[in-house]
Amino acid sequence: MQAPHKEHLYKLLVIGDLGVGKTSIIKRYVHQNFSSHYRATIGVDFALKVLHWDPETVVRLQLWDIAGQERFGNMTRVYYREAMGAFIVFDVTRPATFEAVAKWKNDLDSKLTLPNGKPVSVVLLANKCDQGKDVLVNNGLKMDQFCKEHGFVGWFETSAKENINIDEASRCLVKHILANE
Ligand code: GDP
Ligand code: MG
Repeated sequence: MQAPHKEHLYKLLVIGDLGVGKTSIIKRYVHQNFSSHYRATIGVDFALKVLHWDPETVVRLQLWDIAGQERFGNMTRVYYREAMGAFIVFDVTRPATFEAVAKWKNDLDSKLTLPNGKPVSVVLLANKCDQGKDVLVNNGLKMDQFCKEHGFVGWFETSAKENINIDEASRCLVKHILANE
């Protein structure tokens, strides 16, 4: 087999309020498992996911999880530095976590731009969809409108528990990052 021609390494951030499922999504995506007992340790955690994007392209995703700091509702520039994309996560069972989404997006956009000056690609994740939909997510048009207004490249209903749409959301993000380079 011929070796791939192109290799990309992307730092991706996973942000959003405490308890929305950030760690669970990363564990599901990278380690194919789920547990209802993740400790909210303080610090930053990394996980690596390798995607064989097409026969010529390998994409390595370095997923940055935050633990503890999200209770302040913002992160430092140093943490965001050199990220190429992000997932902003909310919990469909807790409307307040959706209200925090715009705040997270503003924090990110105010502290990070791509080397070419553009904002980084961000996908919105409506997590815990296995627990039933909230009114907002039920209204797909409203969500599309919200994404347009706030500059998200897309949104997905996800479940880390049932493994719903996490691969799809990641492919969407990577596709936009590749197109931006
Ligand atoms: P974080 O603080 O954003 O990292 O959130 P965690 O990943 O620690 O998840 C918080 C809680 O929500 C844990 O008890 C998880 O088991 C639970 N959880 C995370 N994702 C899902 C999901 O998709 N569905 C359900 N039902 N529970 C979830
Ligand atoms: Mg966590």
